[in-house]
Amino acid sequence: TVRRTPLIAGNWKMNLDHLQAIAFVQKLAWGLADAKHDVASVEVAVFPPFTDLRSVQTLVAADKLPIAFGAQDLSEHDSGAYTGEISGAFLSALDCSYVLIGHSERRTLHGESDEQVSGKVRAALRHNLVPIICVGETSDDLEKHGPSAVPVAQLKAALSGITSTVDIVVAYEPVWAIGSGQAATPEQAEQVAAALRAVLVDTLGEDVAQKTRILYGGSVKSSNIAGFMREPNVDGALVGGASLDLNEFTSIVRYQK
Ligand code: PEP
Repeated sequence: TVRRTPLIAGNWKMNLDHLQAIAFVQKLAWGLADAKHDVASVEVAVFPPFTDLRSVQTLVAADKLPIAFGAQDLSEHDSGAYTGEISGAFLSALDCSYVLIGHSERRTLHGESDEQVSGKVRAALRHNLVPIICVGETSDDLEKHGPSAVPVAQLKAALSGITSTVDIVVAYEPVWAIGSGQAATPEQAEQVAAALRAVLVDTLGEDVAQKTRILYGGSVKSSNIAGFMREPNVDGALVGGASLDLNEFTSIVRYQK
């Protein structure tokens, strides 16, 4: 079996301006350096607001910090008359490695459709960004369709038209677990992650499926991270609220301890 490097990703949402971001990333790097021996095998990424990215890029490059970063969204278009939108080309130029796509807050608050999500995935890949494709069911979906149906359908839609070897990450985030303090159980996360990996096998082939990281997200904290990481198909976490707390986030990254 392939070894997948665990990824702990912090989604800041609309929190921390560029000055706060610099202070936060600097302190995070210090905390991780202190813990070097038990975080060396874990990749850490942060997802600040767009307006912070230039500052984060400058700090990370200047101090050679072992922290990756990305944006929380991008446009499905590359340039043109799209007021307020951000091109994947701009994110690439800022050295973003990743971009979140289809977060449940984008889907619900901004009506983002499966088609738009798929357009954004293709835009990210055009610009050499690794898309972190977010999928997940509401509690209503869970009641009506069971645990995996909606996330599986969302992932299939997001990958439509993509067949070749690609570098992507999938984040399974049950909507009922996001910001609710009510995380899924590790068994629930594993069940859906396994179903999502089966979709990857079908659409992208066994090789890509085995290399692709599947994250769990939804009320992850230092006290529950280890349970998720023990599951064979869970390769990391997408962390919202707890990613804004330095001690919590550092402890999550150090889940092996
Ligand atoms: C998220 O928004 O991606 C998330 C997982 O949030 P929280 O950790 O706060 O539940």
